[in-house]
Amino acid sequence: MSSVAIARIDEYEKEKIKQILLEMTGKTAFPDVSDKTILIKPNILSDAPKEKAITTNPAVVEALIEIVKEKGARKILVGDSPGLHTPTFNAKASGIKDVIDRTGAIFEDFTRRNRQHTVYRKLKVPMAVALDEADVVISVAKFKTHQLMMQTGAVKNMFGLVPGLNKSPMHLKCPSVEEFAKLIISIFRESHTDYAVIDGIIGMEGAGPANGTPRKVGLLISSEDAFAADYSEAVIMGYERKDMPILNEAIKEGLTDIRTYSYPILNPDNLVIKDYKRIESRKRSLFSALILPYFSRIREKRKAQKRNAPTFQNNCVKCRRCIDICPAKALTMGDPHPEINLNACIRCYCCHEMCPVDAIKI
Ligand code: SF4
Ligand code: SF4
Repeated sequence: MSSVAIARIDEYEKEKIKQILLEMTGKTAFPDVSDKTILIKPNILSDAPKEKAITTNPAVVEALIEIVKEKGARKILVGDSPGLHTPTFNAKASGIKDVIDRTGAIFEDFTRRNRQHTVYRKLKVPMAVALDEADVVISVAKFKTHQLMMQTGAVKNMFGLVPGLNKSPMHLKCPSVEEFAKLIISIFRESHTDYAVIDGIIGMEGAGPANGTPRKVGLLISSEDAFAADYSEAVIMGYERKDMPILNEAIKEGLTDIRTYSYPILNPDNLVIKDYKRIESRKRSLFSALILPYFSRIREKRKAQKRNAPTFQNNCVKCRRCIDICPAKALTMGDPHPEINLNACIRCYCCHEMCPVDAIKI
């Protein structure tokens, strides 16, 4: 049985958010934080200004920090690691660093302190040491679409525990949507997340998670079950269950059960935004659903290559971020924008996430 609290709120006013979050935590199984070390993991995909709706809004992070402090937390760590994690990354532009300083929390740089975990397919993946120190882990995600996983939610948010560029080779190891969803789930399980909050006051629609358009949704979602919180987000976005690769894999693995979800405040079925600009769902054949898992990685790669390839636009500023992050080494700098080797590209869309000027279209 999982409880999901969904509440309306239409502005980033910290005191109001705090009041509503307190009500939501009271109606769900919020963990005991007294005298404990807490890791709060917002989404800071890139250190962008909050108005772009790429990152969790700092007012939500601040309200949550104050709540756990008032509930007696001993130590509060806050951190994330963008795909292109520069040595100067400190979450300043997103406004989250100011919140950390103001509240006495501690900023964690995941690239400085991490250790290897063994995850799906016995892959060795570095993850933040803050996880080992935390008694309680809280995912504070952003309500956004995602080119590959259809939605960014509280589960996918925990992929940020893998520092910087270590993330992109994972796409190469797990190029199909199903395999990547399994990988995300296995990383999420390593994170031992206890509670999930999704900032949907202003969400992102269209070409998320980095180049979509901010959209007022006016909701906060929270649950002790991150899959259940993500399910609500997806329903509100207007997705059908078959469109949600992470949730479908989690159900198969017995990690969550939609039939047992309860909604003590608002029900997501009554909140569907019919014209929300979603990612078009990928058509899945019987072949891909049942037979593919028995085939080799080469076939997975071929299947991945049936997805739309990125295309490059002339507004490129040649920053090379896409080239640096591409796990398949499929990009070389051309003129007026990078050239793509379509045979090498695995359609992971990391380049799209990283482009600062929306010069990559899917
Ligand atoms: S070109 Fe873009 S989509 Fe293709 S493999 Fe590289 S990063 Fe992924
Ligand atoms: S396409 Fe975007 S990320 Fe790639 S070089 Fe151009 S501006 Fe940079």
